[in-house]
Amino acid sequence: MTKQRINIEEIIRDIKKAKLNDLQMMDKYPLDHKQLVFVLGKLADDKHISFGRMINAVKGCLTGSDIGTAEECLAVIEKYFPKASGVKTLKHRVENAVDKKKSQDEFQRQMQKPSPILKWFKSEYPGVTLHPEIERMIKVTDIYSDTPNSHVISIYQHLTETPKRLTIIAKNNHLFSGLSKYEANRMWHYIMLVTLAENGIETFFIVDVMDPMTCHVCGHIGFTHLPVKKVRDSIIKRVSSNSFLPKKLFPSVEDIDNMPPNEKVRVLMENGWYLPPFCDNCRCQIAPTAVPVSYFAGAP
Ligand SMILES: [Zn+2]
Repeated sequence: MTKQRINIEEIIRDIKKAKLNDLQMMDKYPLDHKQLVFVLGKLADDKHISFGRMINAVKGCLTGSDIGTAEECLAVIEKYFPKASGVKTLKHRVENAVDKKKSQDEFQRQMQKPSPILKWFKSEYPGVTLHPEIERMIKVTDIYSDTPNSHVISIYQHLTETPKRLTIIAKNNHLFSGLSKYEANRMWHYIMLVTLAENGIETFFIVDVMDPMTCHVCGHIGFTHLPVKKVRDSIIKRVSSNSFLPKKLFPSVEDIDNMPPNEKVRVLMENGWYLPPFCDNCRCQIAPTAVPVSYFAGAP
């Protein structure tokens, strides 16, 4: 397909004549984002386009994850409508989107790096394939285990828990082969939960990543403390009744927002949302609330 030659001046004349709004305009002309910003600026210059319509254009870019365009449109808006109300809020939204994008790019870069624990697993258990979701969770653990607020989790998971869980998987690999990514993710945490129960640990908590990429649902569930044995027992009940995953896969923000901790625990327990995943690309982990010193005695 040959790229259509675009005459911006002609387009601007056309837009004004046809009195197109911003969405119709973007629909009709195959403008790349630089051209779009140029057109918006020109229209603003001639007072043809209103502030509200430019705001909508920026919101459209944010929805479409076209952060570059959103930033450039914002620059145009700040130039032509510096004092208009709503500019500040819009700027805030664009900045958040930029932060999120940066954190996504960094995450993707980290995910490409080879993982020492996966390397260990492949040499220890040649021929055993891991569920892709488990590989993802291991890399997530690798990436975030060095952040200062997860120091205890880091020690716990790296020295004892991850290899132990991988060994269990290697020996029961058939259990994971037919699972959906959500089931595999939950099973991964369930193995840890069983280990916690066996070690007399009474409560665990949800560790969300707390970066700009963290969704509202995970952010709301993060640092909720739950009872180990009660959760384990209700999972055992669900597994035997073939409903390991809840009917409604993930909670919505409305399900858990503005709730005192006890109430939140009750809602999570009742609906079967007590172990990650809580969203489609969940990176949440679980960790013991308090670990007896003796637990680390045998750690390498
Ligand atoms: Zn999550």
